[in-house]
Amino acid sequence: MKPLAGLVRHEGNECLFKAIEMSIASAASGVPLHVHVEGLRGTGKTTILRSARGVFPSIVRIKGCLYNCDPEKPHCPEHFRLTRAEIGAIGTEEIPMPFLEISHSAKVGTVVGSIDLKRITDRTSPRAALLPGTIPQAHRGVIFVDEINRLAETSPELADILLGVMGTKPGSVQIEETGLPVVELPVRVSVWAASNPDEEPGPLEDIRRQLADRFDLVANVSRPTSAQVVKSIFSGSLSREEPVKSSGALSDAAALIETVGIPSHLQEIIAGLYVDFALESLRAVEALQHGSRVVAALDRRMEAELDDLIGVVPLALRHRVSVSTMAQILKYLTERSAAREPSRFRPAPPNGGDNAAAAGGSERNGAGATAQDGQGSMDRLFARLRDTLTGRSSAQQNHGGTSGRGRPGARQGAGSSLGAGSGNGDAGGGGNGGAGGSSGGGGGSWANPMDVQVFAPRARATPIVQLSIREMVRTGEDLR
Ligand SMILES: [Zn+2]
Repeated sequence: MKPLAGLVRHEGNECLFKAIEMSIASAASGVPLHVHVEGLRGTGKTTILRSARGVFPSIVRIKGCLYNCDPEKPHCPEHFRLTRAEIGAIGTEEIPMPFLEISHSAKVGTVVGSIDLKRITDRTSPRAALLPGTIPQAHRGVIFVDEINRLAETSPELADILLGVMGTKPGSVQIEETGLPVVELPVRVSVWAASNPDEEPGPLEDIRRQLADRFDLVANVSRPTSAQVVKSIFSGSLSREEPVKSSGALSDAAALIETVGIPSHLQEIIAGLYVDFALESLRAVEALQHGSRVVAALDRRMEAELDDLIGVVPLALRHRVSVSTMAQILKYLTERSAAREPSRFRPAPPNGGDNAAAAGGSERNGAGATAQDGQGSMDRLFARLRDTLTGRSSAQQNHGGTSGRGRPGARQGAGSSLGAGSGNGDAGGGGNGGAGGSSGGGGGSWANPMDVQVFAPRARATPIVQLSIREMVRTGEDLR
């Protein structure tokens, strides 16, 4: 087998190398990170996955335990009741993090476990005991399933077992044997899978959507596109440039992961992505958060940054959003990154309030005008928008702009998008009154838009061209 560092890392498989490093470090820290690799035949994805064991850090287990019991937290039927002293008497040993493969012809008993025939037929002391299957034996390591889209179709029972392993962290497997009580074992196994979505029976998402969603990261591998890269592959010059991290470096990163912090503004951005881009699954949020933490740890930092998140998004969301949504998310995040600081609203000059009042008045007189008179109608539209933001709705005639019903301490930046998401028909409290003086502008007539609560409309949306100007901008009062 070719060592991983000897395989060439290029722009087409860069994402796979990254996903592998993340998964290994995370698994070594005790948190499985499931990776699905998609790509055409001949892109080397299975070779890279199988070679990755070469950089696996080692783990310490109770000596000879087939379930890889952690001496600190034994879990197997044989060791979980033992005291520290008893474990000490058995001793411990260091083994490479396990890497096992499930073949398509595997029987359920081989994969989860079965009665240990050798021990039950032992002539001197026959005992009913279980022989752990491939998955329990890969505890604290990695299980590899090639062509998972085919497996999901031909062996639905194996796909169900994987669902159990990947459903929670840690997951579980059940060993059922006639005549023995059902044994449920916790397993911390990272599942790595490969498939070619262009071949029968098609993409995993179409066959077992639920299983596809259980993967934290999806790497899409392609062939190198430039002749220069291909030339470098044959001359061997590329492999030296970007070697993979050593098992020592991955082990160091693993030790850091748990302590890496996610600053609150980054948490807000991630939560905002979930709401604003309608991510279907909370697993996506978990993958983004944990992934950012792992990337920071691999870079030996104690705090995750926006750029870590940007690096994780293509891996964590590829199977969860459309290509265009992915592009929008990356554009949004890159702009946030370029701005560095979370965007903050700057209040307009104090006299803006007076203008708004005057314009508002003219709009009220001109209600019912059609949208055909170009610039004039736009002015009135903005005037009404200003009215709404400053709390001067024509319905309320709230002079001074503060109704006292806003939220003076409302969150800024990404927080506003969270507010928008909470409006699923149940947006409580608040009103059209802005936060008044909290914007700090003179005169107090301009509210900070970031402080104004946004409501999801109860009624269906109407095309804007069919609305009168009055209806184009709704107030909180209108929407209730
Ligand atoms: Zn054990």
